Amino acid sequence: MKVYPIFLSNAGCSSRCVFCNQRAAERIKPWEQSVQEAFNYIQRSNLVYDEIAFYGGTPTSSEKLLKKILEPFLIFLRSGKAKGLRVSTRPDQINEQIVQILSDHGVTTVEIGVESFSDEVLEMSGRGHSVSDVLHAHELLKGKFKEVFQLMVGLPGENDCLREKTISQTVSLKPWGVRYFPTLVLRGTELERMYVDGSYKPLTMEEALYWSRKAYCSFRNAGIAVLQIGLHSSEFLSDELVAGPYCGNFGELVRGVM
Ligand code: SF4
Repeated sequence: MKVYPIFLSNAGCSSRCVFCNQRAAERIKPWEQSVQEAFNYIQRSNLVYDEIAFYGGTPTSSEKLLKKILEPFLIFLRSGKAKGLRVSTRPDQINEQIVQILSDHGVTTVEIGVESFSDEVLEMSGRGHSVSDVLHAHELLKGKFKEVFQLMVGLPGENDCLREKTISQTVSLKPWGVRYFPTLVLRGTELERMYVDGSYKPLTMEEALYWSRKAYCSFRNAGIAVLQIGLHSSEFLSDELVAGPYCGNFGELVRGVM
């Protein structure tokens, strides 16, 4: 599947999750510049994309922002240069009006940052949404778009029982796909402060591999597409990493030992 990714930094985010250093992790420019450069590139290119994807930030935080981001790209859907659009956002920023705009603008896939199925973990991670927001978003999205859950393991306040719960709840809701990320401590984040003062301890590599393999097996067996496990290798991410279970081929290590 040919996907053109565009990174929106923290566009539309009203607060910062404890683990998020989007700008540093993705060597991000202001989102308007990323969108403009992507538009110019796709316009010049002869390639046909299955999807143009908007990652990072909360583009559905307002109808105005969402339309501003999506509208310029409708031209590529009409000309056949792209078959669909993909939007990644927070579960508490999905409502009927937003779903209608996504639908009207050719969005085919919606990724939501579920992260955990524990309200306590979500709160300790500064997510600002609850499990019931995830369930509500899922009800609105299912059957209309390919729905992808973005999940994390090793968040503050988590234990084995809650890790199991996140996997089993995902299996029972059966989104089209998942991404599964071990939590990393990045520079300049609240999580770095918690790590330094000893109130947060990241998973070891062994623990991260154990849970990721368990999740991978469960999702595959349930017929859920596993799009990604662990962050992709990047020189910049290595520079920003303070602590946590990171290696460039983490996904291969998980998939390779099945
Ligand atoms: S919602 Fe996403 S982009 Fe925004 S602060 Fe949280 S992790 Fe970062």
